[in-house]
Amino acid sequence: MKILNAFSPLDGSLIKEYNVASYKDLEIAFLRSRETFKLFSEMGIDKRIKLLKNLRKVIVLETDNIVNTICKATGKVKAEALMTEIFPVLSTISYYEKHLKNFLQGRRVSIPFLFTGLSAKTYLRPSGISLIISPWNFPFQLSMIPIISAICAGNSVILKPSEYTLSVGEMISNICQSAGFPTFLVQTIYGDGSTGSELISLHPDRILFTGSTNTGQKIMKQAAEFTIPVLLELGGKTPMIVFADADFNRAVNGIVYSSFCNSGQVCVATSRAYVEESIYERFTQAVAEKTKELTQGNILESDLGFLVFPSRTERLKELVKDATSKGGKVLCGNLSGKYFTPVVLSNVNEDMLVMKEETFGPILPIMSFSSTNEALRLANDSPYGLSASIWTKDKAKAEYLSSKLQAGNININDCLISVGIPSLPFGGMKASGIGRYHGFQGIEFFSDIVSTVRSKVNLPSSPAWFPYRKDLYSDFKQVLVFIYGSRRGFFKSFRSLIRLLLRSFRT
Ligand code: NAD
Repeated sequence: MKILNAFSPLDGSLIKEYNVASYKDLEIAFLRSRETFKLFSEMGIDKRIKLLKNLRKVIVLETDNIVNTICKATGKVKAEALMTEIFPVLSTISYYEKHLKNFLQGRRVSIPFLFTGLSAKTYLRPSGISLIISPWNFPFQLSMIPIISAICAGNSVILKPSEYTLSVGEMISNICQSAGFPTFLVQTIYGDGSTGSELISLHPDRILFTGSTNTGQKIMKQAAEFTIPVLLELGGKTPMIVFADADFNRAVNGIVYSSFCNSGQVCVATSRAYVEESIYERFTQAVAEKTKELTQGNILESDLGFLVFPSRTERLKELVKDATSKGGKVLCGNLSGKYFTPVVLSNVNEDMLVMKEETFGPILPIMSFSSTNEALRLANDSPYGLSASIWTKDKAKAEYLSSKLQAGNININDCLISVGIPSLPFGGMKASGIGRYHGFQGIEFFSDIVSTVRSKVNLPSSPAWFPYRKDLYSDFKQVLVFIYGSRRGFFKSFRSLIRLLLRSFRT
């Protein structure tokens, strides 16, 4: 039997040994999930809302334990576990408690004039088994919010947490049990990428994957063999654009927070900044000074936690080395050892790897720009398109940039926050992913959308049905041209319309 060991980045201690699920285990999990789905999807929306309420209460009651488990598994500080893992989950649950009924109601849709006599609606139906594959950087919220969305849609769930944060995956199963979820409604499967791939081969009905672009592409390829709908939340290279007219202190504090929150291991972290040249020197110095104030070492009181993989430091150091070899200047920071200090780089240019590669660590490169269009070009010059932030007091300029930036989520005079608002669809463009979740879209993805049309009149026939005769063509054309074209020949078109409608009375 294959074993995976979960170690804590806090002190290197072994948290627990986990047995990797065999293929037989996966088949059993799928059988159980299918059976549970059949029962659960019939239980109705009130039952789902009841489970959400229970879940919310359990999480509130267990907050400290959940925070401790997350911190031990990831090395993050307690305040961040509370604010960026527990809070978004609770606010998502509360949002769906309020809106789920409305989202799942049949929606009447408008129909073309020529279909008078019909009414049309769309319905969301549960789609089946949802496979959630999650990463290690926010192991709780990036598993829970997809799970909650899938359950709201009436699905059963198989969760494959990251192999680096298995204890959080185990805790999620326990929380669901404590909330009174049907026994196999949410099952956690332990394993690495190969287990994830085996799970896909068992043909879930939906896959929500959060992780690297490279893995996302593999998953999409494999899912295509079985035409499984995928929602991919992938990597990012978030630009921050700071204009000279921005609130200086807010922008400085915002950039330090959004770059070094969770030690930079955030998909939407600011990982490249463009600052207007007239404030560039003053801004970079102020950012370096603020960054030097960040503390590390005590997960209750410090600002910075630890890197989940100390080995990642080697690549981060190479990025800094590449930048300095091309003229970049380290204003502060040192990435050696467990107790790193975040790096701020100035004199940066587009050719440096640190401006292109997803950093996923505590490095902030800051470059200057001279015009709005230059800032826009630089920001969009990336394979990624997850998020961006714009800092200016000029509303028109912010709106112009928002309309042109290639990013799924844009913050103006703020940072990171859009991902924390449960009603806002979240997701990326380009190599950052496909699809959106959160809000209505989160429920829609996990559902089959069914369209229904009902004839409100019980007449023997319909204008477009057989038999086709010469006059059908000329009458239909007359009406089409009137409605969609010239709007001339009202009486002729009206006569044609009546003749068409009378065809409904043919026996
Ligand atoms: P990863 O791609 O290495 O792994 C993510 C998950 O996929 C893990 O559970 C892993 O076991 C599984 N996996 C790996 N190979 C697989 C395969 N072939 N088939 C099925 N599953 C497979 O990513 P990571 O290192 O855990 O996370 C970091 C990455 O996630 C970064 O690129 C980051 O930007 C991205 N991320 C994106 C978002 C977002 O919302 N867009 C959020 C957080 C993290």
